[in-house]
Amino acid sequence: MTEKFAATSYEFTPCADARNWIGGQWVLADGCEMIDVENPRHGQVMAHVPLSGAAEVAAAVEAAAAAQPAWAAEPMRDRAQVLYKLRELMHRDLEELSWLVSHENGKVYAEAKGSVLKAIECAEFGCSLPNLAAGQQLDVSRGVNCQVVHEPVGVVAGVTPFNFPIMVPLWMLPQALVGGNAFIMKPSEQVPLSVQRLAALLEEAGLPAGVFNVVNGGRAAVEALCDHEGIDAMAFVGSTRVAKQVYARGSQTGKRMLCLGGAKNHLIVVPDADYELTTQNVLDSFTGCAGQRCMAASVMVGVGDVDRIVSGIAEKAGALKVGDQMGPITSAAAVERITGYIDQAEQMGAKILVDGRGQRATDGGYWVGVTVIDGVTADMPASCEEIFGPVLSIVRADTLDEAIRIENESEYGNASSIYTTSGDVAREVMARVSAGMCGVNVGVPVPREPFGFGGWNDSLFGHGNITGWDGFRFWTRPRKITSKWAVQKDQTWMS
Ligand code: NAD
Repeated sequence: MTEKFAATSYEFTPCADARNWIGGQWVLADGCEMIDVENPRHGQVMAHVPLSGAAEVAAAVEAAAAAQPAWAAEPMRDRAQVLYKLRELMHRDLEELSWLVSHENGKVYAEAKGSVLKAIECAEFGCSLPNLAAGQQLDVSRGVNCQVVHEPVGVVAGVTPFNFPIMVPLWMLPQALVGGNAFIMKPSEQVPLSVQRLAALLEEAGLPAGVFNVVNGGRAAVEALCDHEGIDAMAFVGSTRVAKQVYARGSQTGKRMLCLGGAKNHLIVVPDADYELTTQNVLDSFTGCAGQRCMAASVMVGVGDVDRIVSGIAEKAGALKVGDQMGPITSAAAVERITGYIDQAEQMGAKILVDGRGQRATDGGYWVGVTVIDGVTADMPASCEEIFGPVLSIVRADTLDEAIRIENESEYGNASSIYTTSGDVAREVMARVSAGMCGVNVGVPVPREPFGFGGWNDSLFGHGNITGWDGFRFWTRPRKITSKWAVQKDQTWMS
């Protein structure tokens, strides 16, 4: 598990099987079913991963509970030193980690590297926490002082999706670890390998055994985490269907829960939008990571006559080929789901301007090319369900009000953007869309650190954002201390 991943190109490269990392030991999950981890570019098995259950979760909770008090007793500045070191190590191994992400997830190398760099930025936020977390204090009356101290929650857990194997784990870890918790990570069983390297790097960075643990698996492992009374807080990132279930199940044991779900992001384009910026930006938004990101554009709402912009997007989209420019889809089942939505929209009368069905870059992998569908209407599933592939559904609206209404009707609320050169239009749309992360001429409006990441509506269950300061608040409890001092008796060198 500690050996480095050898790939330096897209050439198929096998990897050591995933193991659980419990109490500072790599553990073979005896008796657990092992399933394949596939490289989606080649459709070949690059490793195996165990499907853990309640016993493995219980062992991880025991190890975490044993390690947490000593970790919490370290000053926050010392805990943050591990994050400084992790940042250094991630930069040292940037190329290796990027190829690993690319191989297990399918992203092209540049995208994989971008995701590792973003993960490093999250680690940097963790480094800054001791400077941000100095508590408030005030003399609330004569001789009486109130103070806020951020205490850890205890043993906490995180469950992550397949689409960002190292970045999403880093949305959770810095704040949780610097906050003094012991962590149990359950990565997606489709991409468990990057978290294996992360565990090794955290150990090298000096994190004490048991403070970070990895339990591999799928549904059974997640349900065991939800049900375990010894876990005090849990974050989840994945699809809305599962986020809702996990939120409800984990809450039953009194855990603090934050569950981020799926998305259907709307980009509203008005006729005065800048042609070059808009056509390129919309294309990048729905094709980046082959559309498999929760911030991807999914629906473009064209207001009035935007035919020139639609043609420009279609022209650029037609020129973008799978392979080096855009990576594969995660699995055969996902290819079937995505092409199913395209087939259905076509059958219901939509016009396929660019057709990615049948495109492939390798014989064995899972591919869908860039697809643009015009004339999508509200009754078509392509207008309202999450497709999670490189597909842009274009819906037409006569007025800005109608466009905003279409956006507001979505059950999701992750992201929404406006393309315009008018400040008035931008302000109007930013005030009225129903989404947590909004963009003006930005197709992937991810709030970078220190701003918090999180959507609204069915894109997030719980309260607050997962990154930034909200993340620290989620993984810590404020202790309010009120003190009354009659006389200051002790003399110290600071007196
Ligand atoms: P998923 O919901 O299938 O899986 C996510 C995690 O849940 C995995 O670790 C998986 O093992 C586990 N899981 C799967 N089924 C489960 C079940 N029935 N009960 C309990 N646990 C279960 O999601 P995915 O396919 O890995 O990822 C893609 C989804 O994640 C998309 O919907 C995407 O929009 C969403 N996503 C959201 C965000 C966000 O910030 N809102 C970020 C990334 C991805």
